[in-house]
Amino acid sequence: MEKKVEKYDVVIIGGGAAGLTAGIYCGRARLKTLLIEKSLVGGLATYTNEIENYPGFPEGATGLGLMELFHKQAKKFGVTFKLTDVKSVNLEGETKIVETFRTTYEAKAVIVASGGKPRLTGAKGEDGFLYDKGISFCATCDAAANTGKTVLVVGSGDAAIEEGMFLTKFADKVIVSVLHDTGKMDCNEIAKAQAMSNPKMEFIWNTVVHEFAGEERLNAVILKNLKTEELIPVKVDSCFLFIGYLPNTDIFKGMLDMNRGGYLITNEKMETNIEGVFAAGDVRDKFLKQVATAVGDGAIAGYSVEKYIAESETFHSQIMRSDMPGMVYVWNAVDPKCRELLPLIEKYEAALVGKVRVTRVDVYKSAGIATRLGVTQVPCIVTIKDGKIDRVITDNICDEEIAAAVE
Ligand SMILES: Cc1cc2nc3c(=O)[nH]c(=O)nc-3n(C[C@H](O)[C@H](O)[C@H](O)COP(=O)(O)OP(=O)(O)OC[C@H]3O[C@@H](n4cnc5c(N)ncnc54)[C@H](O)[C@@H]3O)c2cc1C
Repeated sequence: MEKKVEKYDVVIIGGGAAGLTAGIYCGRARLKTLLIEKSLVGGLATYTNEIENYPGFPEGATGLGLMELFHKQAKKFGVTFKLTDVKSVNLEGETKIVETFRTTYEAKAVIVASGGKPRLTGAKGEDGFLYDKGISFCATCDAAANTGKTVLVVGSGDAAIEEGMFLTKFADKVIVSVLHDTGKMDCNEIAKAQAMSNPKMEFIWNTVVHEFAGEERLNAVILKNLKTEELIPVKVDSCFLFIGYLPNTDIFKGMLDMNRGGYLITNEKMETNIEGVFAAGDVRDKFLKQVATAVGDGAIAGYSVEKYIAESETFHSQIMRSDMPGMVYVWNAVDPKCRELLPLIEKYEAALVGKVRVTRVDVYKSAGIATRLGVTQVPCIVTIKDGKIDRVITDNICDEEIAAAVE
């Protein structure tokens, strides 16, 4: 069966908080925007009952309710939604290719907002108690619901121990299941010392989860001692798993730069190592993974895409035209050396009308165009002939040099 081909300005992969926010920004900027989500629009946040730390909702909001609002707003700005799995991508080159089972999508830009998933233990009973039924992955989110209760934390890395200590502000008892011998943990020494002196924390060493048990909700975790094989039932109200997080980045391996954990590396504009490809939300290598930060990332990625596409269009339709030679003055308005040259540039703008197309590119506003021209230093003059870069002048920009370059 021949695949359908559809063209968009931007394709967003993932419909969580980050992807939906990017969609709102792209749609509002009148870009033809497609968002592809493989399971539930709203992403991970829809799994949590109560979101109390997202600004603007003093009474709190349900994850589902909040994400429905994001979804509604993205639809209002004309974003097209497809519920399907992105199987592969080809991101090199000007046209980005995003493949699903039935359709090939072509786009000028792609935003990766595919989030991640918490690593599970694989123990018996786990699937039945995930999220609102007692197994949680987010102390920031679910600590308040455990006020006065007993919780089990699985893991001993920085996240496990720091989140465990946070939980002691709410829970009466925080029991920690640690894989290692007594006194050995994966977290930093300061966290370890603080945790071990915290009267609300208890440790069960050399253990892994053997089984999760309960009726409607989790009420016990059966641990197994790795040395003695002894099974240790622990009565709990909730269990928090902090044994790692897996980003949804398999399809980008070998293409996009990642850290050791597989999270995508971006700069502050959410740009990845490939031009025209941006990443936002939990899929990024970043400090705090929450709805509020996913929203910030999505906004930046959407804005960056808008600028990227506008700059691409200017670059191709105005600067690299082959019907007339061109001269580009790449400058920075706040740089005195650049400003000093303006009268000379204005002289050429007037003299070359109808013969050479003169364009000014301010690196502050249009850094992407300067990058495409290969300019790293300003002031700079670039001349274009037959749609290609002819000369680049950075040193000694003067009347004679410009006259020689545009003759
Ligand atoms: C139980 C729980 C409770 C939480 N509570 C809170 C809270 O109270 N407050 C708070 O601020 N944060 C909370 N968080 C964290 C918050 O949910 C995340 O930080 C946020 O959802 C990140 O949004 P995102 O868009 O980056 O990723 P996600 O929400 O993970 O969305 C990514 C989306 O991409 C989709 N996707 C992945 N791969 C593909 C593919 N190949 N093709 C198509 N679609 C794909 C996924 O299906 C998913 O829907 C909680 C997290 C959990 C797990």
